[in-house]
Amino acid sequence: MIYLKNREEIELMRESALMVSRTLALIAREIKPGVIPLELDKLAETYIRDNGGIPAFKGFKGGRGAPDFPATLCISINEAVVHGIPTKTPLKEGDIISVDCGVKKNGFYGDHAYTFGVGEIKPELQKLIEVTKESLLLGIAQMVSGNRIGDISFAIQQHAEKHGFGVVRELVGHGLGRTMHEEPEVPNYGKRGDGPKIKEGLVLAIEPMINLGTKNVKQLNDGWTIITADGKPSAHFEHDVAVIDGKPEILSSYAFIEEVLALVK
Ligand code: MG
Ligand code: MG
Repeated sequence: MIYLKNREEIELMRESALMVSRTLALIAREIKPGVIPLELDKLAETYIRDNGGIPAFKGFKGGRGAPDFPATLCISINEAVVHGIPTKTPLKEGDIISVDCGVKKNGFYGDHAYTFGVGEIKPELQKLIEVTKESLLLGIAQMVSGNRIGDISFAIQQHAEKHGFGVVRELVGHGLGRTMHEEPEVPNYGKRGDGPKIKEGLVLAIEPMINLGTKNVKQLNDGWTIITADGKPSAHFEHDVAVIDGKPEILSSYAFIEEVLALVK
């Protein structure tokens, strides 16, 4: 069942989404070679709790006997696609890291992600990051009343594959609201005109996961981390988006992050 949201609910969701945006900006300021991912996680947890939010990933139930997720952030480095568990291993020059964060506030979830370069990164990785972000924005542009979920999926896949990148199939975007994963699923591949119709008040977390090489992935035996099957790097961007007046409105924001990135460059 797809739960459409009214304006009041969407405003609460914007608050949750922006709390994630500000958390990611806080992390953006710290990302450099030598930094410990687990320390970034502590920083994020403190910030969220100090601002009246609840870290939504911490304690998230794992499937098939996997432990509950132990952290506030998913930090997925290089070949890790998503669901990476923050560790004590320092970041290295040239790494790329996807930082995904979920927050619950006022009963509603925010869930979004950004991929950062650590120090100087190879041009091919810069390209991967740019194309993944462009794919997300092209997908979002299709989220208009009367279109279908497949229109979003198609736009994302088309752009990523045009650049020769692999589009992950096993993990998808999702509806967002009073639970973190609602219907409908939002695959990052698909056909125009397929899937549920997009309506006023729909709120989605759209999240392309794009690989430098093969589209195939596997899971590490920590029960969480998804890595590429060929060990090549992967990028991940996620925004929370609502349909308002028939058009997509991004509730989350990369402005805080990109302000920081411009300053630290
Ligand atoms: Mg996420
Ligand atoms: Mg998500």
